[in-house]
Amino acid sequence: MQQKIELLGLPLDKLKVAFEKIGLTSLDAKRVFPWIHVKCADSFEVMSDVPLKVREILKEACSLARPKCIALQKSSDGTQKALLELSDGNRVETVFIPEETRNTVCVSSQVGCAMGCKFCHTGTQSFTRNLTSSEIMAQIFFWKDKFSITNLVFMGMGEPLLNFDNLSDALNLLLSEKAHNFSRNKITVSTCGIIDNAIENLASFGVKLAISLHAPNDVIRNSIMPINRKYNISVVLKAAKNYQIQSNTTHVTFEYLLLKNVNDSDENARELAALLRGIPSKVNLITFNSWPNSELQGSSKEVAHRFLRILLSKNIRAIIRKSRGDDILAACGQLKSKIL
Ligand code: SF4
Repeated sequence: MQQKIELLGLPLDKLKVAFEKIGLTSLDAKRVFPWIHVKCADSFEVMSDVPLKVREILKEACSLARPKCIALQKSSDGTQKALLELSDGNRVETVFIPEETRNTVCVSSQVGCAMGCKFCHTGTQSFTRNLTSSEIMAQIFFWKDKFSITNLVFMGMGEPLLNFDNLSDALNLLLSEKAHNFSRNKITVSTCGIIDNAIENLASFGVKLAISLHAPNDVIRNSIMPINRKYNISVVLKAAKNYQIQSNTTHVTFEYLLLKNVNDSDENARELAALLRGIPSKVNLITFNSWPNSELQGSSKEVAHRFLRILLSKNIRAIIRKSRGDDILAACGQLKSKIL
């Protein structure tokens, strides 16, 4: 049987091309598009203003199917983590994080990850492949079918900027007024520091950027993030500055995982403050979420607060980010596509 065309991740221009290939017209694509992205239809039958003949062709050749949920875990704090199975049997995780004023979905962009960050559970699972734009969007549809979603963070499995074309199609759909209509301030893309054209191209979307910094100097960053040997801290900070200007965002967020005896000394806090001086930025201090066989340990609460105080005293905007879903391994850096 011929594989069906997955429509969830196709922006209108690509939907038109796909429709042409199966003998349908641009007008058909224009009619179907809002059914997919505004009404979130999960079948062609309900598309009442689409001619029956067209719906029959679509049913034969195309799919709006949501991925199969293999496991759904609920944290005591309300966070939910879903393990989704893709059509080729690969699996990815996506997380739903409800808060008082917003509901955030954390989206994966790749199966596994090639970056090998030492503190990250996903990094222990080798890279398998990029997700298609439909597979990226399918995670959002999966949660949208159940909840109203206000914010999106591309911080799940994988490095989004290494899957830029598919990320780009998904962002087009998410930001389009004629589709999901998210404000650009409600979407954050996180990178470990892939400083090539992708970061410049991302600026045109105007979404928020979060950079996994995690160290105040190259010696420490080299020891926990192999990517630093390619793009070191000064390159990353220069790109961050440019991004903030080009994207017209208020600031760039720097993620900083506090690791016991690795990057959490007072001197490290002062070094970090000096690095970020003059860059419109915010630092998210994150307490380390351990996972099975991890060699690293998180800093204590006292150390985290001292680190925070030093940054604030140097006029660096910073917070200690509350960890969510760590009891179900749904917190930052804990995702992996296996049932553990
Ligand atoms: S932190 Fe991100 S980039 Fe690093 S290994 Fe994990 S998923 Fe990959």
